[in-house]
Amino acid sequence: MKAIISDIHSNLEALEAVFVDVASQDIKEIYCLGDIIGYGPNPRECLDLVRNHCQVVLLGNHDQAAVFDPKGFNPAAERSTFWTRKQLEAPVPNRQAAEQRWEFLGELAPTHRDGDFLYVHGSPRKPVDEYIFPEDIYNQRKMQANFALVKRYCFQGHTHSPGIFTEDLQFYSPEEIDSTYPLEERKILCNVGSVGQPRDGDPRACYVVLDDATIRFRRVPYDYEQTIEKIVNTPDLDDFLGGRLRDRR
Ligand code: ZN
Repeated sequence: MKAIISDIHSNLEALEAVFVDVASQDIKEIYCLGDIIGYGPNPRECLDLVRNHCQVVLLGNHDQAAVFDPKGFNPAAERSTFWTRKQLEAPVPNRQAAEQRWEFLGELAPTHRDGDFLYVHGSPRKPVDEYIFPEDIYNQRKMQANFALVKRYCFQGHTHSPGIFTEDLQFYSPEEIDSTYPLEERKILCNVGSVGQPRDGDPRACYVVLDDATIRFRRVPYDYEQTIEKIVNTPDLDDFLGGRLRDRR
């Protein structure tokens, strides 16, 4: 079995809770679909954990923004990006550790393929940047263009809204399918949700467990009040970024 995580956003409490949940199952590898950093208060710690525990790690738009420059970010996201960059430049615990983090970020790939399985942060068409929202099922052209690039199964993150898109343009949230979806012949896109900043009305960390035949969505409670307090105590991180962990949006 494999765990697929995404959109951690420097939320250490959420990431640690997910790793504990992963360790309680027979999971052999962990894939991370990007946005390890940005928004949250623990970029170094999250980066180190992902680097040490995940076998495949992809590039997200926030990871890219920290290395290069933020494009199209709102003011709060931009400020959090510059603050994140400062944290990553800090030689903690030494200069070599900081250099390794930059090197790791700079080498992240935008896609990963294993046979019928494709992994991206955003979409098959634009792996780092494009959002595929549940309401995009009404945008036939966009969905067809993306499905055309998928052999059978694509796993993605970026929107922080978990669920399954089918090629006949249906979207199923985890609640609608009892958090379980069988892998069949037909193509699907699976959004694995967000570990560190869920926006689907459920504040618990979200990720996916995949075995040969089934996708299972997992929700893991964690102490988000602790994360919120750190954000509130960091002037460069907008208080809104904390509040939304409680408000789940
Ligand atoms: Zn994200």
